[in-house]
Amino acid sequence: MRLLTFKSESGEPHVGVLHGEQVLDLSLWLAQNTPYNRPEPMDMVYLVKKGEGGLAMVRKALEAADKGLDAPFLVPYEQDKLLAPILHPPKNIICMGRNYPEHASEAARAFGEAPSEPPKYPTVFTKAITSINGPYADIPYDSSVSVQIDWEVELALVIGRAGRKIKRAGALDYVFGYMVLNDVTARDIQKRHGNQNFLGKSLDGACPFGPWIVTPDEIGDPGNLQLWTRVNGVEKQHGNTRDMIFDVPTFIEALSLTMTLEPGDILATGTPEGIGHARTPPEYLRPGDVVECEVEKIGVIRNRVSDDRR
Ligand code: MG
Repeated sequence: MRLLTFKSESGEPHVGVLHGEQVLDLSLWLAQNTPYNRPEPMDMVYLVKKGEGGLAMVRKALEAADKGLDAPFLVPYEQDKLLAPILHPPKNIICMGRNYPEHASEAARAFGEAPSEPPKYPTVFTKAITSINGPYADIPYDSSVSVQIDWEVELALVIGRAGRKIKRAGALDYVFGYMVLNDVTARDIQKRHGNQNFLGKSLDGACPFGPWIVTPDEIGDPGNLQLWTRVNGVEKQHGNTRDMIFDVPTFIEALSLTMTLEPGDILATGTPEGIGHARTPPEYLRPGDVVECEVEKIGVIRNRVSDDRR
């Protein structure tokens, strides 16, 4: 299943599921098909919290649509109306840094650091919730803030149920689904704040993801997916998640040792080599550039960089 959030006719964000060339409006369907009748709109985190019961309702809605029933809930799929699948996660987006060996080397080189031993534990940082951006929305570019905006394609995942001290062996049971995420980074800001990630990775609009959440049954092994970045159609990154230093279950185990993971938490798993900052000469995004990030079996997000100096 491909679960998405889109701008409905009323202008409100609605949750939907892809049904062929159409979207089944789950916010409307669930509001009118008990037991999810409630006054306020249902968002994706609400659906995630419903767990298996929620997914069973979605399957039921899809089956009805397959039989030609419930046509009033079907709307055309329009790419430009897609929003970030999760607009209000419970926490900042939690990311792993330098999680691919070749990228760890290029990043150390680009930041003037001596090569180091492979890490024993993941490097973890977060991106502010205000950086969340749609899968086809513009990335705002303000030259008075940063002139070194860079790309990082990543496999992201959504946590499906709460857990603490989750063991590696059962960790994938906590995954609700997978998405593509671009960990857009202002290298100049990252560098001047002691190479700390938070500020340089939290610019407004610096976290496009989606285009939808793909459920794990359609992904199989998250540890063997190709991923790419293209800028204006030119390939800049091409990796495979099998090269991650810390795989998805290890990431979940490490995080949940210290904090409770909650339904709707978004985790980003790091980027392969090929960032602009480590190129010779360095390359950065400019207004008008179109950056595409793709993960096998999930899809493509495409964002234009737009001049937004305020
Ligand atoms: Mg990253």
